[in-house]
Amino acid sequence: MLKTPQKPTSLAVLTSGGDAAGMNPAVRAVVRSGLDAGLAVYTVSEGFQGLVDGGDRIKKVSSSDVGGILHQGGTVLGTARCDEFRTREGRLRAAANLAKLGVDALVVIGGDGSLTGANIFKEEWRELLQDLVAAGEIDKAVADKHRRLTLVGLVGSIDNDMFGTDMTIGADSALHRIAEALDAIHSTASSHQRAFVIEVMGRNCGYLALQSAVAAGANWVLIPESPPTEDDWQESMFSALKAGREIGRRLNIVIVAEGAQDKYGNPITAQEVAEALRERLGEDTRVTSLGHVQRGGAPSAFDRYLSTVLGYAAVEQVVTSPGGEAQLVGIKEHQIISSPLMECVAETRAVADRIAEQDYETAMAMRGGSFRESFQMLKTMVRAKPHAPDPEQRRLRLGILHAGGPAAGMNMAVRVAVRVGIDNGHTMLGITNGFRGLERGNIREMDWMSVNGWASRGGAELGTSRHLPRDDQFGQIAEQLEEHQIDGLLMIGGWAGYRGAYQLNAQAERFPRLGLPIVCLPATINNDVPGTELSIGADTALNNIVKDVDKIKQSAVASGRCFVVEVMGRDCGYLALMSGLATGAERVYLPEEGITLRDLEADVSDLRDGFMFGKRLGLVITSEHADPVYTSGFMKSLFERESEGLFNVRQSILGHIQQGGDPSPFDRIQATRLADKSLRYLIEQALSDDPISAFIGLEHGKIRFTPLADFTELIEDGLQRPREQSWMALLPLARVMAKPGVPAL
Ligand code: ADP
Repeated sequence: MLKTPQKPTSLAVLTSGGDAAGMNPAVRAVVRSGLDAGLAVYTVSEGFQGLVDGGDRIKKVSSSDVGGILHQGGTVLGTARCDEFRTREGRLRAAANLAKLGVDALVVIGGDGSLTGANIFKEEWRELLQDLVAAGEIDKAVADKHRRLTLVGLVGSIDNDMFGTDMTIGADSALHRIAEALDAIHSTASSHQRAFVIEVMGRNCGYLALQSAVAAGANWVLIPESPPTEDDWQESMFSALKAGREIGRRLNIVIVAEGAQDKYGNPITAQEVAEALRERLGEDTRVTSLGHVQRGGAPSAFDRYLSTVLGYAAVEQVVTSPGGEAQLVGIKEHQIISSPLMECVAETRAVADRIAEQDYETAMAMRGGSFRESFQMLKTMVRAKPHAPDPEQRRLRLGILHAGGPAAGMNMAVRVAVRVGIDNGHTMLGITNGFRGLERGNIREMDWMSVNGWASRGGAELGTSRHLPRDDQFGQIAEQLEEHQIDGLLMIGGWAGYRGAYQLNAQAERFPRLGLPIVCLPATINNDVPGTELSIGADTALNNIVKDVDKIKQSAVASGRCFVVEVMGRDCGYLALMSGLATGAERVYLPEEGITLRDLEADVSDLRDGFMFGKRLGLVITSEHADPVYTSGFMKSLFERESEGLFNVRQSILGHIQQGGDPSPFDRIQATRLADKSLRYLIEQALSDDPISAFIGLEHGKIRFTPLADFTELIEDGLQRPREQSWMALLPLARVMAKPGVPAL
């Protein structure tokens, strides 16, 4: 009987296949978590080629060796296609190189090709070692000690085409690149009334095409999984675009995935699409192929976070199940999971096979619910005008307002809600400047085209305010609701919006009109409202912070500088913790934990030690309300006073930069999903005899509704944050990534 494999003592990590932004943070996380778990950690350069070559391509590393790579795109380890690794001889050399170093655990970051290759290596490992013993290359004792190879795969691929994870490392950054390009094209295209055809990557997977079309408000999309159902696919596209022009749309954008095809499996190229548009629409049509732009650039905040948690989990997997079946560690429904690697590869390939067999229905079904929903959603959004209302159906009047601070993505949510409402035969009313606008009757009907071009716009076109109705103003609000015959309200906003909505309903006994159904949709950069693990705007704010902190770090050309960066969040430390993870801060201060004098003393001593031993840069992130006395200004003075000349300190309060900017793709996509669902729920409630008000949210990535009446029970007394905050579970990981005394960045 085989003995249970021993816990590995060493671990190697490599990147392979096509590069993807986020590979570096993943390597950094694997290295630091491995060291934290007491393992010797090696990095392998040039993918499998480095394993085959050995020598200085397999390098034992310390924590500081992976400093300064978090923000870099691509992979500092390098990646190469390696034909030798496809041969047994090549893999024999790789096994020899690892066994001689006593390494029997491997984390591979790559696509399905790389993970398949790695799995073959794992399966052969035992025999390979036996061959090496027979050839006298390694001792039998070594082979016996390392009988099994522990293999964990992380998916680095911009296409988001892999089973076993909802998001692959690099996909979100690629969406950022595409959205940036599309936003740029938007402005030039609408100046000229041109049509643009944009080709994006994705040979077997339409993820990038579909989500970027949703995010950019594109007018047509062609993806491999769901080809046009008509023989003459050009005609349906043409009539949709023509209808758009007729109602005054100045711009047509068509997105084509690399692997787009017609229903017979013939490829549809961007050039063909452009020719069809020129011919039938008679329009000046340009083609832009985004190509490698999509792979490049710095990893987005989400990719940095994702790679960090996945790298950490990969090491946990190595340590807790040594020698077991190869695993793929991914994220599903907002939680880290591991699944048998080869099952994931097989499923991934099965979708490609279904597409090749023109079994599109199964291919689409295998992509899962939210992919299909996005596609359906897009079909509504691209319409030039709504479906004709059903004359039998009751026509509701639904109001939309914001309240709270501005959050990127608010406009997208309004755009979607307005169109979904009108498409379902209802009248949509925009209320300007929050509850104040409602009091004053600043209410106007919104038509289909009134939200044209809102998808990519930051800020809040309807205006938002933190004003909460005073006791004597509820009557006025009830009058306005009566006058405008409003049947339901969608509040897209943050804390003030939730409070205001709750108070309105709570006054229903005094003013029955205020008992109308209200749906609250979380849109606040602080991510501090109950009933959801994520709110719209937080991702954009994080990306803003990350970009600025990257710049701040670059400004420290002279060594010996520590930055104290203050971020927003009021009573909630979400932005501080997440930006700390994504920027490599060595210390993060949160209002949930507070700050003690002892903490600051320890920081001073860690900073002094670090700088004494060659650290060049320090970074501390603090949340604006982490402590009323120990503020960022206080920290700056304290650290500088106690620096003993080893470093100087700069304070940086990022301020309103965090609330501005165009919404990130993720915020646009979530805004679309949540607004669609919220409005449908509101319609249902407004039509019911016993309507319920609720807030929509995400729990484990799934949409759920919580009764608005529960608001006060779900929040901390006297504080602006929910009692339960799932992201707090990330605290231990943040500590491992930035151990005191270690140059963290
Ligand atoms: P990706 O990982 O992005 O899918 P590739 O398919 O090009 O990229 O694979 C990257 C590398 O993984 C290849 O160059 C090769 O070294 C290794 N590899 C891929 N498939 C196999 C296989 N079946 N057997 C052994 N090695 C493989």
